[in-house]
Amino acid sequence: FRIMASITFKNVSKTYDKKKFVVRNFNLEIADKEFVVLVGPSGCGKSTTIRMVAGLEEVSSGEIYIGNNFVNNVLPKDRNIAMVFQNYALYPHMSVRENIAFGLKLKKTPKPEIEKKINEAAKTLDIEQYLDRKPSDLSGGQRQRVALGRAMVRDAEVFLLDEPLSNLDAKLRNHMRTEILKLHNMLKKTFIYVTHDQTEAMTMGDKIVLMNHSRIVQVDSPKNIYEKPNSVFVASFIGIPQMNFFNAKILKNENRFALKIGKFMFNLPAEKTTSSLESHLDTEVIVGVRPENIQIKESGFCDDCFSFTALIDFIELTGSELNLHFEFEKSRFIAKVPSINCINRGDKIKFSFSSKHVHIFDKDTEMAIF
Ligand code: ADP
Ligand code: MG
Repeated sequence: FRIMASITFKNVSKTYDKKKFVVRNFNLEIADKEFVVLVGPSGCGKSTTIRMVAGLEEVSSGEIYIGNNFVNNVLPKDRNIAMVFQNYALYPHMSVRENIAFGLKLKKTPKPEIEKKINEAAKTLDIEQYLDRKPSDLSGGQRQRVALGRAMVRDAEVFLLDEPLSNLDAKLRNHMRTEILKLHNMLKKTFIYVTHDQTEAMTMGDKIVLMNHSRIVQVDSPKNIYEKPNSVFVASFIGIPQMNFFNAKILKNENRFALKIGKFMFNLPAEKTTSSLESHLDTEVIVGVRPENIQIKESGFCDDCFSFTALIDFIELTGSELNLHFEFEKSRFIAKVPSINCINRGDKIKFSFSSKHVHIFDKDTEMAIF
């Protein structure tokens, strides 16, 4: 039988010197065999969080459970966890084979079994031809595979990966993302994957846990994090280029809520919930619209669209897309449009966006008004 490797955090905090919180009131349930991505800006407490799961950092207060076991006081070696680090942490004087075997030898695993496990892992990771090389004779991607191999042979129930791809170039990183997801599919173990890279988080996670300033700020699917960010922070952290933000006032236009932007007025969708908007009536709010939701206006009528004209003052070509930069009502904007559009700096362009794509946030709390 195997233990159920769900992971539960109950009000977990980590402080240094009894006052500096680096993780604060962390509450989370991770299901057995789930793949969870922990993402947030550098210094927000991601590494500290998973190091507490591994037992490499003490928990200052709160409880961590693996399955039904309370593990706060369990030694790292008894937690059935494998960890992969950004810098690989391979022993330079040992061959790849010896690096992978190291933990198993310590556990006095019989030699034939070690051989079998090394060969299986090497095959899965496509590093069979490098087994007798030293880490210094491998590329970054190959070294990271060895580090994954070392984690695989340990038969751990929980895999903790701390920015494992950060040292790789962009192309290899894309490839290894897929490899790690395949590995998760094959091993069917619980994975916590840490990254500061929002693209990695969006493409890899079933569930994203977004942290900022030592706290969890949103736990959701990639789709919901993108479509329903609960705060200005989440809205600005996810999406490239970043969401456009501007100030507006909430008014009522006949029976519909509307936004007043400078001298412009713009109706919100009829289905927008009214109670939270009602309480913000006649107040200033922060409005957000993603660059990809601003379109070059086609002729013809668009129901619930906001249309305006702006002068393009800067253009970036990213290949299939153009990022058009402009100012509107004293705020900076970027619109992301297909690059088949032929547009030059100095052009006056008619844009529009649908009220369905508008995000509204409280100006003081910066929390979403749904
Ligand atoms: P992340 O992995 O998200 O970049 P970390 O968990 O590594 O963040 O660090 C979170 C915060 O904790 C940082 O501000 C860091 O400076 C601080 N920190 C980490 N270790 C210590 C320590 N031993 N003493 C004091 N502060 C620490
Ligand atoms: Mg870190």
